[in-house]
Amino acid sequence: MKDIIFLQPVFKQMLWGGTRLRTEYGYDIPGGHTGEAWVVSAHSHGDCAIKEGPGAGKTLSWLWKNRPELFGSDGAGQFPLLVKIIDASDDLSIQVHPDDAYARTHENGSMGKTECWYVLDCDPDATIVIGHNAKTRDELRQMVTEKRWGDLIRILPIKKGDFFQIEPGTVHAIRRGTLILETQQNSDITYRLYDYDRLQDGKPRELHIGKSLDVIRCPHRDVPVGGEQTEGDGFSRRCLISCPCYCVEKWDIRTSACLSQDYPFLIVDVLEGEGTADGHPIRKGDHFILPNGYGSCTLSGTLSLITSHVQA
Ligand code: ZN
Repeated sequence: MKDIIFLQPVFKQMLWGGTRLRTEYGYDIPGGHTGEAWVVSAHSHGDCAIKEGPGAGKTLSWLWKNRPELFGSDGAGQFPLLVKIIDASDDLSIQVHPDDAYARTHENGSMGKTECWYVLDCDPDATIVIGHNAKTRDELRQMVTEKRWGDLIRILPIKKGDFFQIEPGTVHAIRRGTLILETQQNSDITYRLYDYDRLQDGKPRELHIGKSLDVIRCPHRDVPVGGEQTEGDGFSRRCLISCPCYCVEKWDIRTSACLSQDYPFLIVDVLEGEGTADGHPIRKGDHFILPNGYGSCTLSGTLSLITSHVQA
């Protein structure tokens, strides 16, 4: 059997978090306000341990540095992607992320953050914030100064299976009753524009109005997502987004599928079901990496998957 890298999630307690990471995925969460599971991460704020496979017991950042050939890399720079499951039982703050160029100069050489969301589940009336209604930079500045948040932010209804690409400079917020799989650049830089005047330990959380105004794209522009669905014998496959930072695909396997791993490396997130990957048991909530040069992988069972990779 070829070596598959299985990862252990890192959990984050958040004001707005809930318990669905335990009830849906069976994860051993640290408390009742667990907002995020960093399921594929080599970031210093939450570095996944390797559960099984090469480097078992070490972290993903260790493997990236010491076995770069597994990722088709020379080990320079950072592991490029970060995958999270987010359980929002309350609204997240309205926020925006910088691009690579802005983050490099203003955030100690960090990467910027392009991210995308796959809606795993949500309440029937759930909504999300993507974009804003200001037509010009002056109007944006004015609406922010006057705190006209209701006029400014753009709220969209969502449903299970929706997918959104959030480019740097996009005003956005996940809202209550939403479970999301987020694939993003390996960055933890967030500028908070508005936090509903909530208090944490008696104080409002810090806002970053100046930096937000620097980076917000104006006017807002939606990014088209979703490609053609390919029907195979026993599976279907659809490209959700292909951008310079990553490619993300959705796979629905009814009996089996042969997945060809020709990328630097391939991340696989098991959203639903159970089965095997080249004979190795896999189930809902598992996240693994097929390393460089893996070749073809046979996936059997009833499985719903998201795969992601960087551009070769
Ligand atoms: Zn974000």
